[in-house]
Amino acid sequence: MTIECDKVGGINLAQGVCDMEVPLAVRRRAQSAMDEGINSYTRHDGLARLRQAIAGKMEFYNGIQADPETDIVVSGGSTGALYCACLALLDPQDEVILFEPYYGYHVNTLLAVDAAPAYVTMAAPDWTFDPDDLEKALTPRTKGIMVNTPNNPTGKVYTREELKWIADFAIRHDLFVFTDEIYEYFLYNDRKHISPGSLPEIADRTITISGYSKTFSITGWRIGYSVCQKQWSEMIGYVNDLIYVCAPAPLQEGVAAGIEILAPSFYTDQCADFVTKREMICSALEKAGLTPCMPQGSYYVLADASHLPGETSKERAMYLLETTKVAAVPGEAFYHDGNGKTLLRFCYAKDDDELAEACRRLQDIR
Ligand code: PLP
Repeated sequence: MTIECDKVGGINLAQGVCDMEVPLAVRRRAQSAMDEGINSYTRHDGLARLRQAIAGKMEFYNGIQADPETDIVVSGGSTGALYCACLALLDPQDEVILFEPYYGYHVNTLLAVDAAPAYVTMAAPDWTFDPDDLEKALTPRTKGIMVNTPNNPTGKVYTREELKWIADFAIRHDLFVFTDEIYEYFLYNDRKHISPGSLPEIADRTITISGYSKTFSITGWRIGYSVCQKQWSEMIGYVNDLIYVCAPAPLQEGVAAGIEILAPSFYTDQCADFVTKREMICSALEKAGLTPCMPQGSYYVLADASHLPGETSKERAMYLLETTKVAAVPGEAFYHDGNGKTLLRFCYAKDDDELAEACRRLQDIR
């Protein structure tokens, strides 16, 4: 959709690129680190300063104790962190349960390591799931379950009760819990971020994955990490070394400085900004007759596009692009079996003027 959007000079609410400003402290430190000669390979699992900063943040924000010497592997974005974790911990034909609608990279990462996804489908508009469906998705080959909270594409924030179901299930069947928390700071309506790894009963089997692409608007820097117990992180570290050697050294410095320097208000102000953007896009979608499923977190919204012409979500997305020059992602991209035909996903991490223009255009479609 990004390519199609570029062809017509449209507004791209399809791809999850964050257009916010990179915090000054982060930019300054990356630049000065380059000038100071921090341009070589780092230790395979990241600079000590960054691992320390992440360990502090994990304790303070996520409620997870991580030893910066052994439990953290800095990688090429959270995408790289998940790939290394899957390659290190899964065998070919192992199965991992995913919640659907899903983030496509999760499926494709599993396929890339010859593992297989199994699906538990969540129900709109709140994206709830039946805990019995976890058992139904289980096979003798199931090795893990994947959580993404706050979620892309639904905006769902998993509740403590849901995470308890998942924890009990993982313990009962001796599974890994892979959890992608890249949107951990983007929460609405007093929702709290709960890291599955903070539940003591599954701390030993949880691989927590996150990064700074979204929080610091540095999707091109490729700084992410995994946090887990040493018995797993050692293996993940070997794989990370083999694939990436290390994450970019001066950019690791920039992110470390950001984590150390930025006050809690940075994160709450950023969130408040996304609250406003969420209101803007959801009210525009409502007026356009594209009923939104109100997101609880992240910066995406799924909308019901059933009144747009087309058989498939791709046809509907193309119709929207042709008539309004606003791009969205077809809903079928988030389902394995052709569901999602009436859904479109919009990303609202845009600057206010661009988002306001996109909203004006969407409202015209009615
Ligand atoms: N995880 C989720 C759920 C995402 O939506 C995205 C990007 O859209 C990523 C991971 C990618 O993160 P990174 O840039 O750290 O690889």
